[in-house]
Amino acid sequence: MLPGKIVCVGRNYRDHAKELGNEVPKEPLIFLKPPSSVIGSGDPIVLPAASTRVEFEGEIGVVVGAKLCRATEAEAMRGIGGIVAVNDVTARDLQKTDGQWTRAKGFDSFCPMGVPGDAPTDLQRLTVVTRVNGVEKQRGSASDMVFSIPALLSYISHVMTLDPGDLVATGTPAGVAPLAPGDIVEVEIPGISRVSNGVKADR
Ligand code: ZN
Repeated sequence: MLPGKIVCVGRNYRDHAKELGNEVPKEPLIFLKPPSSVIGSGDPIVLPAASTRVEFEGEIGVVVGAKLCRATEAEAMRGIGGIVAVNDVTARDLQKTDGQWTRAKGFDSFCPMGVPGDAPTDLQRLTVVTRVNGVEKQRGSASDMVFSIPALLSYISHVMTLDPGDLVATGTPAGVAPLAPGDIVEVEIPGISRVSNGVKADR
């Protein structure tokens, strides 16, 4: 079943903010991806003709398990339904020129997500690894996040109610790079979830 909404977090790892020349935000920077961008493992990521630079962003995804409205961090912890590997595919050129990120983040096939697994007791131990054609490109740990997973869920729930099935993508570590037709990109949360997708041109 598709998430009702997908809330993403920008610049939540210092090294990634830095690699794109950005400061770490004082509050979580959030944006939305449309549910229509979701694909599963094995489905192709389609590079749109409108972009010349489409990049992978491997992320730790949180599937919401209970309704969260103005939740405390403790309530947010209890509202986690699962952990899932997510690729926040981004048209980097359009992200810069558009200002609003809707198009850059919203093309069909721009949200590969795996099958969710159970959240560990200690969320800080979660790691995410991205490989392209079998070569490791990104490795991040929840312990390196600027804002923790419970802090993010609590923050978002003070803006919009999170419903069961909603997906929160918690930001990407350093190492983002462009994808080319023929690439295979894999995001793995070791022991919990993975998603692997081929890349093809629009036409
Ligand atoms: Zn992202």
